[in-house]
Amino acid sequence: MRIDVVSIFPEFFSVLDVSLLGKARQSELVNVHVHDLREWAAVKTDGTPDAHRTVDDAPFGGGAGMVMKADVWGRALDDVLQRGGVLVIPSPAGIPFTQALAADLAEAEQIAFACGRYEGIDARVAEHYEAKGFRVLEVSLGDYVLNGGEVAAAAMIEAITRLIPGFMGNAQSIVEESHADGLLEYPSYTRPASWRGLDVPEVLLSGHHGNIERWRREQQVRLTRQRRPDLMADHDGDVAQ
Ligand code: SAM
Repeated sequence: MRIDVVSIFPEFFSVLDVSLLGKARQSELVNVHVHDLREWAAVKTDGTPDAHRTVDDAPFGGGAGMVMKADVWGRALDDVLQRGGVLVIPSPAGIPFTQALAADLAEAEQIAFACGRYEGIDARVAEHYEAKGFRVLEVSLGDYVLNGGEVAAAAMIEAITRLIPGFMGNAQSIVEESHADGLLEYPSYTRPASWRGLDVPEVLLSGHHGNIERWRREQQVRLTRQRRPDLMADHDGDVAQ
């Protein structure tokens, strides 16, 4: 998979060099290219040089803050988006980022992330690339507002790339985890069996695989019902109450 990220803070993405993603990049399972949006801001809209490499302007209709310019983003994305690529624009007003969307995007050949700042990117950018036939997704990391799209893009890149076959050392670890089957994961423990007066649930020490599996499923349901009742709607019919 190829991932392109365009941002006015390309240095932020040094986080993508560490851990499993760093290894996947070295082995070329994932190719990540980070670009500085200002590289495409050397000229003004009228074609004259822009020494300040401006990427934003005041919003039409008034209001607080600045909006990122369509012409600068258009030049950048014309260069970066490849045929068949998916354009992801992080936005608190986007569709929710979920495990299902991560799995869907893990099959893309290229994803380009357009990281907004200020009040976001001129809305015509998404409209333009959609009209040109690209899959364009405005995606929210959650119901809160960040300062920029960088944190959201990094989180999405991590969630997507770990689903690419060959990324994880143990493929089973992505099958048995929260959201894989719509429920949260059961609690996990390791040695010592007793710590500060707290004992590991007896069943986990029993070696009885059937009982362990049953206990884990009950814990998944208990935790999901307690913490995420919104997820239970899909499961109420098929799991133990
Ligand atoms: N004016 C925008 C609104 O109210 O919807 C918020 C702009 S926010 C300050 C600046 C940028 O941060 C956004 O363009 C987006 O790239 C990113 N961002 C903020 N919150 C986000 C979230 N929950 N999910 C994804 N991206 C987010």
